[in-house]
Order: sequence, then structure tokens, then C-alpha cells
Amino acid sequence: MNRFEYIKAPSIAEALDMMDSTVPEAMVQKTDGSARVVKAGGTDLLDLIKEGILEPGRLIDLKNIPGLDKLSFDKEKGLQFGPMVTIADLEKSKEVKQHYPALYQAAAHAATPQIRNMATMGGNLMQRPRCWYFRSNGHHCRKKGGTTCFAQIGQNQFHSIFLTNVCPCVHPSSLATALVAYDGKVELTGPEGKRVLPLSEFFTPSNVDVTCENVATNQEIITNIMLPPVQDSTRAHYIKQGQRESYDWSMGDVAVVLQMDGKKCRDARIVFGAAAPIPLRRESAEEVLKGKSINEKVIEQAAEKALEGATPLAYNGYKVHLFKTLLKRTIMEAAS
Ligand SMILES: Cc1cc2nc3c(=O)[nH]c(=O)nc-3n(C[C@H](O)[C@H](O)[C@H](O)COP(=O)(O)OP(=O)(O)OC[C@H]3O[C@@H](n4cnc5c(N)ncnc54)[C@H](O)[C@@H]3O)c2cc1C
Repeated sequence: MNRFEYIKAPSIAEALDMMDSTVPEAMVQKTDGSARVVKAGGTDLLDLIKEGILEPGRLIDLKNIPGLDKLSFDKEKGLQFGPMVTIADLEKSKEVKQHYPALYQAAAHAATPQIRNMATMGGNLMQRPRCWYFRSNGHHCRKKGGTTCFAQIGQNQFHSIFLTNVCPCVHPSSLATALVAYDGKVELTGPEGKRVLPLSEFFTPSNVDVTCENVATNQEIITNIMLPPVQDSTRAHYIKQGQRESYDWSMGDVAVVLQMDGKKCRDARIVFGAAAPIPLRRESAEEVLKGKSINEKVIEQAAEKALEGATPLAYNGYKVHLFKTLLKRTIMEAAS
């Protein structure tokens, strides 16, 4: 681990100034040359430093900035929370549990209770992939500026089954699966001001830019995450399958948000987590559900459609069956 300065930023403006002034000379990041050094809970950041993937010159802690840990809910406006809201805060919120059950389920099944207490939502969306070749000092993979993807030719049982051609690492955030299903947005604040993006446009597939996982620049901070209001007709569910019940990332997770008119589905959003380098919408499967009564036959058709185009690697063919089963169960639970 290298030596670095540690500073508690008193405000977003000062955090941005500090990020700016440290670029580029005080900061070396081996992976992509970016200079993002803000620290939230530290559960991923400190791993990256210890693993030698990241060598910051300065860590700028966001913990003391007032207001970043606020969560608010309004029936008309929806849910809004700051980046320092923890996964545990989402899990404990009565409003999240009642109005956004898929997000509650994603929060309740992530990591461990101890990690959920430390892990913030800003950090969760910005965490780096868990691919063992990326995390290993001995493998200079494409994500770190190299020319080889070791996962494509090596051990790839936990990797992508979609968008596998450049780097098949999966996006590590299982909370993002639910947030994208609810059509969430993220607010980024940088030296030029604020911009708001749908989360579906925030994450970057590796065939667009292999060295990073989202469109945030080195000098932007996530300052808000927003979910639209839910309707009385909204039904949602989320299921995560891991190798073990706790202390692990997902092997596959699915979030489904339906708009129901009685038994008939008016609209649907289906998102797969740990299937691709981004949380992956399955629009073709959504089309199968729209305008139909949800029954076993329709669910079966949607599951078949959702897996069309999958290109599993040598050791992760099981994920095709896993996702079919997870999707069927998630739609059934949501619709009931
Ligand atoms: C054993 C284990 C199991 C886990 N299982 C799961 C799981 O099942 N599902 C899941 O989703 N996650 C899982 N995680 C990951 C965990 O949720 C993340 O490590 C955590 O959410 C990161 O948040 P943090 O506050 O600790 O971020 P930090 O470690 O402080 O930061 C992570 C990254 O985000 C950047 N960052 C932080 N805040 C901001 C901000 N506001 N704006 C811009 N950049 C920012 C940092 O610079 C850094 O690059 C697991 C972690 C562990 C250790």
C-alpha cells in the first residue's frame, strides 16, 4: 500500500476543488489513469489500494459533508437519497420496504449486515468489478490497459453470458439491478455543475469503454439517487442467487417491476444483474409480458426470450438455466 494524504471534505464544492488540485500529479491509478479518490465507506476502495490496483495520492472523505446521508420519500415525487445513505439505511427504511420492495430485497440480500452498515450507495454504484484477473496483481488485463482478457480464456464461471466479447466481467452492484428496474436516475456534480442521467445510461458496457464501468468523469461526485413514484398498479420483486447466503456477491440476480391492470400486465421492466458488464435490461422479454395476463405459459415464453442471444463462456453455461429459473420465479412473485 502506498502513502497517501487523507482529508475530510467539509462540502461538495471543497471536495471537487481537492479532486481538481490533485489531478494529475499527486495521483497514480494503474487501472485507467483516472483520479477519482473520494472515499465513502471504504469497503471497496481500501481493497483496491491493498490489492495494488489503485495508488491514490490523496483520499477525500465525504463522510463529514452535511446532507449526503439523507433519504426522503414523497408519494408524488418518489424516493430520493444521498450517496452516503448506506445499504443498511435502505434495508431499514419503512418507505423503501413498502413502496420499493425490489430495492428492499436487493438491500437485504447484499453482502453481510456488517458490510451493509459501512457500504454507501454512492460507493456501491462506483465499486469496481470482482473479476479475479482484474483484482490480481499478476494479470495486466484489458481493464488495466493490457491487451489480453484472461477471463475469456481462463476461469470464467462467475463471468458474463451477455456482451462477453471485450471483457466479460460482471457489474458487481446488485442494488443497481433493482435501481435500473425502477428506472432510477443519478445526479452527478462536477466542476461544470450538475447533470442527471437515467441509471440505464450511467453504466458503460466494456465494448464501449473497457477501462471503466460508468460515464462519471474523474472529477464528478454522485450527489443524489432518485427513483420515480410508484403507482398503485406497480408490483415488483427481486431475487439474488449467490454461491452462499451471505458474504458474497451475486452469481445472478433479477429485478422485475410490473404495472398491472388486474391480472393483465400493462408495462414491465426486467433487469439481470451479474449477467453482463452492466445491469442488463431484457426488453424483448418485457415485450412478451406487455398486454398479457400473467400465467405460466407467458412467463415461460418471457424467460426463453430473455436468454436469447446469450453467449456463455466455457464454464458459465449454467447461468443460462439459472437466469431462466430466477426470472420465472421473480415474475411469478411480482405478479402475485
Ligand atoms: C464480502 C463482500 C460482499 C459484498 N456483496 C455485495 C453484494 O451482494 N451486492 C452488492 O451490490 N455489493 C456487494 N459488496 C460491495 C459493497 O456493497 C461495496 O463495496 C460498497 O457498497 C462500496 O461502498 P463504500 O461506501 O464502501 O465505497 P468506497 O469503498 O468508499 O468507494 C468505492 C468506490 O466508489 C467511489 N465513490 C464512493 N462514493 C462516491 C461518490 N459519492 N461519488 C463518486 N464516487 C464515489 C470511490 O472513489 C471508490 O472508487 C460486497 C462487499 C464485500 C466486501
